[in-house]
Amino acid sequence: MLSSIMLKKQSAILKKGGKKVSKKLSPNTKKLPNHQFKLVKVKRGMAGLGLFAQEPIKKGEMIIEYVGNILTQEEADEKSSNQYLFEISKNKTIDGYPRWNLARYINHACREAVNAESDVKKGRVFILATKGIKEGDEILYDYGEEFALEHILPYGCNCKAKKHEYKMKSASEMKSKK
Ligand SMILES: [Zn+2]
Repeated sequence: MLSSIMLKKQSAILKKGGKKVSKKLSPNTKKLPNHQFKLVKVKRGMAGLGLFAQEPIKKGEMIIEYVGNILTQEEADEKSSNQYLFEISKNKTIDGYPRWNLARYINHACREAVNAESDVKKGRVFILATKGIKEGDEILYDYGEEFALEHILPYGCNCKAKKHEYKMKSASEMKSKK
């Protein structure tokens, strides 16, 4: 069965990361894969595929964990074109590229339009609701400036915010940052 393969794969990865899975963080329903806390579904949204709530989610509740293969800095540098890298610390990056990482489908939105945020805890990344989310709503969080400048602004931000968060920097500002 596909789901059991996914679970096996993930537990191997969690072991590789050297962190035990905390019981407290376990999902409240046994039907879901162990990195998923709420019913969610991948489907087509405003900016391609997105992740949608399939049940109401309360403010502050954990939705899903951002999971993937654990990379060292060296390994992460080699994959710098991969947009799903989530840097946790100097020497730990989660490569969230695998499709079983449903959290990779969460799209970016600017602050005004988000309903979730990412929270790093003990080397793991959790996506939490920052406001009540209705069934059928797309889950969105702010990817942060660095990602937005590189991957979103060149194409234009599609989010519903009236005021988009980030602006392209002038060439001189970009240089001084490096
Ligand atoms: Zn925006």
